[in-house]
Amino acid sequence: MRVSEALREATRRLTPDSDTARLDAEWLMAHALGISRSAMLLSAADRDAPANFDGLVERRARGEPLAYICETQDFYGRCFRVSPAVLIPRSDSESVVEAALDHAPNQGRILDCGVGSGALLLTMLAEKPQLNGIGIDRSGQALEIAAGNAKALNLAQRVQLEQRDWTKPGWQSDLGQFDCIIANPPYVEIGAQLDASVRDFEPAGALFAGPDGLDDYRCLIPQLPDMLTANGVVILEIGASQAAEVSKIAEQTGFATKVCHDLAGRSRALILRFPLG
Ligand code: GLN
Repeated sequence: MRVSEALREATRRLTPDSDTARLDAEWLMAHALGISRSAMLLSAADRDAPANFDGLVERRARGEPLAYICETQDFYGRCFRVSPAVLIPRSDSESVVEAALDHAPNQGRILDCGVGSGALLLTMLAEKPQLNGIGIDRSGQALEIAAGNAKALNLAQRVQLEQRDWTKPGWQSDLGQFDCIIANPPYVEIGAQLDASVRDFEPAGALFAGPDGLDDYRCLIPQLPDMLTANGVVILEIGASQAAEVSKIAEQTGFATKVCHDLAGRSRALILRFPLG
């Protein structure tokens, strides 16, 4: 079957399950051919569709996110490799990057707690060339993905990746202090209704944080003051309804807090600093 015809058929197959069936089919075809989507659209219509294309379409029809099938996701203008060991970088987190770029210093040391694919940390390092970073994660598989992304983005010299777990005492003892700490910790409450594509495919350990979704904030935030320089700043991603509760945890720890909103007006990031004076 020719590519053009295979694309039409795949679009029909995906239409019941995806709002973006044609686009999905095009991305899958480009991935199967190992070329960019634009190259595929410009020049591949008359070629034979590759044998593995139908299998990719089937995976998508069963709800698997496109990013896991194609093994990549664009984030803040850069291409990140992903696997089911890491959350797929979301546009929600691009608003966190915006907040972090506004509030982080231009130079110094930055720590990312729960680095995953590296989308947040590596974007910060790429945008602020005088920062150096450490990314920690409890998942060794996630750290391998982050390392690959650091290399692909030419940032490997400026980042150190380490397997550490902030729920284990002493995890931070030899890390020193940071000018900026960022995190997109798990913040979904156990039992929450998630889209099937998230629930069935993305790593539960990166999503769920106890019965109210706050367990990781409760664990992590009180450990941060000792890890910050005097002017240090913390930027946390939060769920859209969590600003008040996470601010409270931070204020009880002695931080001053500021909420940042995304373009839709939802609270999306929390900035923590030591109060002046
Ligand atoms: N925003 C993600 C979701 O709702 C959750 C990310 C997280 O827990 N850090 O799918």
